[in-house]
Amino acid sequence: MRWGLIGASSIAANHMIGAIRATGGDIRSVLSSNEARARSYAAQHDIPQGLTDLDAMLAQDALDAVYISTTNERHFVEAMAAIEAGKHVLCEKPLAMTVGDAATMVRAAQKAGLVFATNHHLRCAGSHIAMHDAVQAGRIGDVLSVRVFHAVQLPAFLQGWRIDNPGAGGGVIPDIVVHDADTVRFHLGEDPAEVVAIKGVSGLGQGVEDSVMSVWSTPSGVMVQTHESFTHAHAGTGFEIHGTKGSIVARDVMTQRPIGEVTLRTEAGEESLGFDTHNLYARALQRFVAAVNGQGRPAADGVDGVKSLAVASAVAEAATMGRRTAVDYGGL
Ligand code: NDP
Repeated sequence: MRWGLIGASSIAANHMIGAIRATGGDIRSVLSSNEARARSYAAQHDIPQGLTDLDAMLAQDALDAVYISTTNERHFVEAMAAIEAGKHVLCEKPLAMTVGDAATMVRAAQKAGLVFATNHHLRCAGSHIAMHDAVQAGRIGDVLSVRVFHAVQLPAFLQGWRIDNPGAGGGVIPDIVVHDADTVRFHLGEDPAEVVAIKGVSGLGQGVEDSVMSVWSTPSGVMVQTHESFTHAHAGTGFEIHGTKGSIVARDVMTQRPIGEVTLRTEAGEESLGFDTHNLYARALQRFVAAVNGQGRPAADGVDGVKSLAVASAVAEAATMGRRTAVDYGGL
């Protein structure tokens, strides 16, 4: 598959270029808003063309798909242009700044018969797949509650727009809550219905929140508790699913790396659940390429991206307004 990268970003450099190439992808061009950066990024990553004109990039017949990893406010316009040009799209989260825009992107791709995927990597992790399989196999009985621990220290090289630019989609809610919403939906197979939340600034955020805690309800009555932050250097991450017959307690699994520990606790005692340690992003790419070839669906498709954004938007509204908020899925 021939790819164009929209965005000379860190996530592309650190994870996605390697993942695309690991699935046999041929990266033909990269787009930046800055000519010098376009050229240097292309040279640094052995990409034939560094471009600054989106229309010129999309006019190239040689591209089958684009990967969009610009700052969040640019995703909508870029995705709509790519869909209009007939390219399959793998888009970074959050898909857009509003649920309405995200739903418009996804509907446009559906209408054009193109594959549209959201880069939610956590559901591709071996640890989460092992937890999912255990829940599906009934090992913890009926699910009662979920607890998500995703308070981390945002590394200096990622701070930039995330901590001071709401217009670019900064803040911990658009950055991390979307991933947690997608992971919770992956495990529960249902969509959160209502949320309450409190957000705060704990040392990094300038004009945006850098910490949030929230509680979500689901239609079946499962209660979900989450904590996301940019300022917790030593907290470690975790994901717990508690059921009528047992609990799954996973540590260090809200991460980009294939690490962590997953423990099943039941009346019989504790059991460590093994899992595959494949690259999370490479698996997302494999699923995307297979979907383009007519086999299955992406790991997280466009509707998943709209729904994760819908939950995060409800958390933001609940925290801002100080009231219980229904999640609006934009009709999807
Ligand atoms: P970056 O800040 O690295 O890149 C975003 C944009 O900022 C780039 O498109 C680029 O613009 C510009 N930029 C990058 N480096 C520089 C620089 N040195 N000087 C000036 N401008 C620069 O963002 P991330 O890679 O962290 O995030 C990009 C997107 O990916 C976001 O939507 C984010 O939410 C998502 N993301 C997803 C992850 C996942 O696991 N799914 C993980 C991390 C991020 P231009 O292209 O115009 O050159």
